[in-house]
Amino acid sequence: MIKIIFINILRRVRFAPSPTGPLHIGGLRTALFNYLFAKKTEGSFILRIEDTDKKREVAGAEKYIVDALNWCGIVPDEGPETKSPFGPYRQSERSHLYNKEIKKLVAAGHAYYAFDSEEELASYRNECEKKGETFIYNYSNRLSLKNSLSLSSGEVADLLEEGEKHVVRFLAPKDKTVKTIDLIRGESNINSSLLDDKILMKADGTPTYHFANVVDDHLMKITHVIRGEEWLPSLALHFLLYEAFGWKKPSFAHLPLILNPNGKGKLSKRSGEKGGFPVFPIKWEGEVKLEGFKEHGVLPSGLVNYLATLGWSPKEGSEVLSLEELTEMFQLKSVVSAGANFDFEKLNWYNHKHIQDVSNEYLVDELQNLNISAQKTNKERLTEAVGMVKERANTVLELWGLLEYLFFEPRKYDDKSLKKIKKDGLDKICSEIISLCHSLEKPDSLIENLKLWGDENGIGAGQIMMTTRAVLVGGLSGIDLQKIVSFIGLASVSQRTKVFVEKHI
Ligand code: GLU
Repeated sequence: MIKIIFINILRRVRFAPSPTGPLHIGGLRTALFNYLFAKKTEGSFILRIEDTDKKREVAGAEKYIVDALNWCGIVPDEGPETKSPFGPYRQSERSHLYNKEIKKLVAAGHAYYAFDSEEELASYRNECEKKGETFIYNYSNRLSLKNSLSLSSGEVADLLEEGEKHVVRFLAPKDKTVKTIDLIRGESNINSSLLDDKILMKADGTPTYHFANVVDDHLMKITHVIRGEEWLPSLALHFLLYEAFGWKKPSFAHLPLILNPNGKGKLSKRSGEKGGFPVFPIKWEGEVKLEGFKEHGVLPSGLVNYLATLGWSPKEGSEVLSLEELTEMFQLKSVVSAGANFDFEKLNWYNHKHIQDVSNEYLVDELQNLNISAQKTNKERLTEAVGMVKERANTVLELWGLLEYLFFEPRKYDDKSLKKIKKDGLDKICSEIISLCHSLEKPDSLIENLKLWGDENGIGAGQIMMTTRAVLVGGLSGIDLQKIVSFIGLASVSQRTKVFVEKHI
């Protein structure tokens, strides 16, 4: 007998941020794992803006989220700009859908109208507090509170007609074992009596996160909900909502937290400030200005590669990976549940590797975007210079510090280097450099000629090299000395030496 197995390969995942400020890298990591999972399984990656809480919305946050995702190459297949049967993709534009769905839930007896005023609820809370208890609106007291379960249907109809302020609450079942499944953490059982009758629709007619989120995931045919661990406590409620609607549940995976470098607490802006690193992908130009990794000279590919290792690890021996390579290797089932400490040094290490992998032209564009002095240099020469120093750079910004002397005379000379070179013969070395600059046709043999001259005059090669370097660079670091000379040319070598002589001899 032929057995026909239907395998649904269609995967739909969503990243569902609330536009309440700049996107933290924790959120970016969630977006990345959703993206990797979608691309790996030839599914769709959807961006949904959860903007029902207008009080918490911050201007510019949605644009920031889109810009940050684009910068990282984590580009959604569907999002606020997409026209599709699954849209709109902003929750604030989906009220008609929530209004329709909430009516179904009330009609089926899984949700009810509650007319208790803020003041009444506050006084119940107070009374409980006095007794050392916590007020929970649920099976234990709902029949003695002011709602459509305790009031007669006539009273309820009148109140609704009069426009009495009300919310819609979920009727959490009593004493039901809710078995939740998380792809990363496995099964767990929760007794529904511990839950409160969560508000689904607020008094202003807008849905709460829980309600809108579940309705949208269902209507947008989301197959896998991949989100941060902070939503794990809501999972039982979400399961009950799916069951109340009679909808098929998506699979759930709650990603581990990204922790502060010391492993204590969720990675915060404050600990970034203390450690000298940002916690946002790109700069935020809100009331408070914040720098992102981009402004620190981190490449998107470096950031993405590092973020992918927070909670997941590619197979051994393959650490430096592009987004495409990460996609190929990604396995949701090998994401771990333990929190991952953020390590800026490690990020720099990845960034260093990615700097070696990308073209010099690309690095020049990035550098010129970030550094005003770099904008003033000739692009072709800057490209050559970048190629000469990039093996020493951890960030794009560091490139400038490593190559600035190839374009500009030293602004100052490092004291330690001066001490080392201020010895007998310093004036002679400088004179010889200047004279060679006039006699030689090309710069390529300047160092060799200087060394020969040193041999004849009893001045060691070490002393000659150190002096020439300090004179040209302002210190004793930098790339191969002859390469510096060849790059800046004889006229500049001569000029820099003259300036040095004037200042220090
Ligand atoms: N709007 C929620 C947030 O910003 C989404 C949580 C979820 O993915 O379900 O975290």
